[in-house]
Amino acid sequence: MAQRPDVMERMKSRVIPVDPFDLVIFGGTGDLARRKILPGLFRRFCAGQMPGDARIVGAARSEMDNSAFRDMVREAIIEFGDADAAATSHLDDFLACIHYIAIDAKGDQGWAELQTLMAGEGRVEAYYFSVGPSLFGDLAERLQKWGMADEKARIVVEKPFGRDLATAQDLNATLATYFDEHQIYRIDHYLGKETVQNLMAVRFGNMLFEPLWNSQYVDHIQITVAETVGVGGRGEYYDKSGAMRDMVQNHLMQLLCLIAMEPPARFDPDAVRDEKLKVIRALDPVDHHHVVRGQYQAEPLNEAAHPGYRTAVGDARSRTESFIALKTHISNWRWAGTPFYLRTGKRMSARSSEITVVFKETPHSIFGEEAGRHRNVLSIRLQPNEGITLGVTIKEPGPGGMRLIDVPLDMTFAEALGDEGDQVDAYERLIMDVIRGNQTLFMRGDEVEAAWAWTDPIIESWEARHDVPKPYESGSDGPTDSIEMMRRDGRQWREVSP
Ligand code: NAD
Repeated sequence: MAQRPDVMERMKSRVIPVDPFDLVIFGGTGDLARRKILPGLFRRFCAGQMPGDARIVGAARSEMDNSAFRDMVREAIIEFGDADAAATSHLDDFLACIHYIAIDAKGDQGWAELQTLMAGEGRVEAYYFSVGPSLFGDLAERLQKWGMADEKARIVVEKPFGRDLATAQDLNATLATYFDEHQIYRIDHYLGKETVQNLMAVRFGNMLFEPLWNSQYVDHIQITVAETVGVGGRGEYYDKSGAMRDMVQNHLMQLLCLIAMEPPARFDPDAVRDEKLKVIRALDPVDHHHVVRGQYQAEPLNEAAHPGYRTAVGDARSRTESFIALKTHISNWRWAGTPFYLRTGKRMSARSSEITVVFKETPHSIFGEEAGRHRNVLSIRLQPNEGITLGVTIKEPGPGGMRLIDVPLDMTFAEALGDEGDQVDAYERLIMDVIRGNQTLFMRGDEVEAAWAWTDPIIESWEARHDVPKPYESGSDGPTDSIEMMRRDGRQWREVSP
């Protein structure tokens, strides 16, 4: 598809600089800061969105000065960001905005210095908690103790937000001691993806889909988030969590909410989040017969490089799942009777995140059954190749009578919109939203709790039964039981394709 210069120009001209801000990144030397947050901020700087007098303050445990931290940021941008952009003069200008303070989240070191730095007036103040969750409460408490938890402060909290309902409630209560809900930005980076917002644009910006968006016309909906990587170096953390806590309770649940929610009256934070919350609260409990858990096996000829799950996490008896597939229903007027199938796993055949809406067959074929019948399938790809495809039934070209085939109407954003179409990474978009004070794409406390309230009984059920995940081959699409679960319902998973 040809590039669209008009669209690209329009997008460039629409970069609206945000207000002057100070962003403190607790954990500024960590993996997330180096891989995502700092390269993302640099890209916004290059795009002209970050004001030149913005200040980014790395705050972490290591002792180092501004200059050493700037060197670390430079290397991170070259390694994880855009190496070409890093060769421009922008990088030095960006680094001039960077500061560093060695700080102890659990003690007093560094806080007086941070307080002095943040003493100015009239700027947005944001504090990004890019540290382990055990430090979230300590940071909130110290921000208040040192006078920084005032009305203009915003905090950004990374996942995981609790490991069950009780811990999420505790964390919400702790943060609420120091900050109002409108100051708390709980990150789910899936919500920052371009396609996820496009999901709302497609649903609520077109007349075409919404009238069909219900159980009368939709046969079922699938949400798949497949990864090719294993647990890697995160084995110890992951084994305490598993796919349900790490992926389903947050990312897949958020996607489910956006696909299933009622149209909010306005595109504003509480209107959207109220509708998402109603979806979570309407989810049926999941019967354990509708859950398949799996653990990936070693790659047969390459076991050293790609060990099996249990070896990777160092526990030969681990019962944690690296794959989960489940079926659920939403008990409301719109969706009663339409199953939602969720699936996510590691070491699968391809890296692919996709939402698929499978419509029902036409009620009657005027062409006769021999012409073949197809279902319209709308698929929304989050990664890779973000885009939307709609399968449409047409006549097979050529002589020989009327035979029907399915052809895709395909819009891959990178092709339709040029490079600009997918250039804003989820983290950069979300950080700019924090600075703008827009919470629409962040989870509210009650949403997170409702999600855990639905997830907890599922986890408790397999813990009570000492459920052992089924082994599955690396590079496959999970245990055969997952395919079987669909087959029993007369359906099949959409192929996981890169
Ligand atoms: P990391 O271990 O690489 O970095 C931790 C950072 O916290 C370091 O900068 C360290 O100096 C700092 N720190 C630790 N103890 C401290 C203390 N007492 N006082 C001050 N600073 C202290 O961790 P990470 O991978 O960057 O993850 C950070 C957070 O982001 C975690 O909550 C993680 O779950 C979440 N997260 C990470 C990723 C990722 O890709 N890395 C993805 C999603 C969410």
